[in-house]
Amino acid sequence: MDAVYACVVHAAGDLRIEEREAVAPGAGQVAVRIAYGGICGSDLHYYRDGGVGDFKVRQPLVLGHEVVGRISQGTDEFAEGAPVGIHPAAPCGTCAECRRDRRNICAYSNYLGSAARDPHIQGGFVQELIVPVDQVRVLPPGLELRTAVLAEPLSVAIHAVRQAGEGAVDGKRVLVTGAGPIGLLVVAALRQSGAREVVVSDLHETPLTLATQVGATHTVQVGTADWPDEIDVAIEASGTAGGLRTCLERVRRCGTVVQVGSLPGGDTAFAGNVLMTRELTLTGAFRFDHEFDTAIDWLAGGLPVDPIVTHTFPLADAKAAFDLASDRTTASKVLLDLSVGTPR
Ligand SMILES: [Zn+2]
Ligand SMILES: [Zn+2]
Repeated sequence: MDAVYACVVHAAGDLRIEEREAVAPGAGQVAVRIAYGGICGSDLHYYRDGGVGDFKVRQPLVLGHEVVGRISQGTDEFAEGAPVGIHPAAPCGTCAECRRDRRNICAYSNYLGSAARDPHIQGGFVQELIVPVDQVRVLPPGLELRTAVLAEPLSVAIHAVRQAGEGAVDGKRVLVTGAGPIGLLVVAALRQSGAREVVVSDLHETPLTLATQVGATHTVQVGTADWPDEIDVAIEASGTAGGLRTCLERVRRCGTVVQVGSLPGGDTAFAGNVLMTRELTLTGAFRFDHEFDTAIDWLAGGLPVDPIVTHTFPLADAKAAFDLASDRTTASKVLLDLSVGTPR
């Protein structure tokens, strides 16, 4: 193929569309012509802050880990033209976590578009991506690429719900702080998992409207409304210290709090005495593993998540896409369409 273009961050505020050499897949790999890429909160942090959490950009990084497309150079198993989703993680397979089937927290995992390791793992916002076959999933018939691109963040959400414990949300009242794309997908995953009531809080009205569309039963615009009581489980998806405090204070005594939002780098003020005196359980949720297949199944089954994708931009307009995706009063999940537009 001709030149392929990629969306590359060099430093805070320095996002470029750059040509990349098209390479052929090696043994055990396929080439995927990327159709859509979802802009994630972590991509936005790399762009705005030059890093996410404690991971700093130290060399040019192709962003993107939420990508879908069609096989362009395949194998017997993966026919050319087949629509595929891409699992972004390549765990080491041999460390203690991998051997315990906790591959999502493998410290040696290569995750698409991540500065967690040095050298960085280049991402999927590139028009043709070479990827190992075991990260490729052929999509079921009828599942549109535009919808399938939510499989990655939905997997994060499903994992967060599972971290609350087996059956912990079934028939229960659950709070979600933060109605960004992850929070919204957590809402959908909670309803699918049998949560009876889902309360969602956010600073802004637009994301709360979306929350209702994907299954929230009650919304709280922070500072303007009352909170329901007797919350069994709280899932922190805002990535703010305030959100974590809200979860610790609002969940019932003996309740469970799951931190899935990425907090700012460094130390976070933490209401430890609230945890101690109320005997709460606090747990983290990081990425996902087998949940990716569940996410594809749920999306193919019609999980009502379409309202979450609010905008689509051609790759050439990536900067505008990133700027809009940062505006939480207007946008939720913003997609890059990598199949169109010659970069200028
Ligand atoms: Zn993501
Ligand atoms: Zn490992």
